[in-house]
Amino acid sequence: MPKHETYYCPYCGETIRGFEYEKFPNSSSFKFCHGCGSEPNFQPLKHDNLWYQDKAEEEYKEKYGENCNFSFMEKVEIELKIEDLIRDKEIESNPLFNPEKKEIRIKKANELRTELYYEEKAKREKRANENSPKCPTCGSTNITKLTATNRLVHGAAFGLFSKTARSQWKCKNCGNKW
Ligand SMILES: [Zn+2]
Ligand SMILES: [Zn+2]
Repeated sequence: MPKHETYYCPYCGETIRGFEYEKFPNSSSFKFCHGCGSEPNFQPLKHDNLWYQDKAEEEYKEKYGENCNFSFMEKVEIELKIEDLIRDKEIESNPLFNPEKKEIRIKKANELRTELYYEEKAKREKRANENSPKCPTCGSTNITKLTATNRLVHGAAFGLFSKTARSQWKCKNCGNKW
């Protein structure tokens, strides 16, 4: 167990995990803050995660009485309270805290999220493309599966061994059947 579960950049509030930080505090990946780019002394959160959770639940019970049953919406509200306790009451009350650096952190995080989203989307489309059948003649994916009736009709009209009767696919681009 790390001494502290979470550390944060006092300027922008970017959080890092204590587990890695305490193991390699001098690692180059901890030299600069990924959130705002400054060179901070990362500071530990005063308490562990469980403490914030207990505290948030306590505050919640004070507000709504003992008979709250921790429904989904109540859990969401408690989650927000935990974030509140950590962000507003602790990180952002640090005298080094700088709201402009916080903006930089949020902007960067959003950019990264967008980048990851498009990367994932492109990967998915590539995978879908690789899996979708193509015309062996022209490579077009604009193809249609011949239905059994369709094949039967052609089989009856031109003899059961006509190509259509045996084919499953027809290319709408070049007309190839296979
Ligand atoms: Zn920072
Ligand atoms: Zn084709």
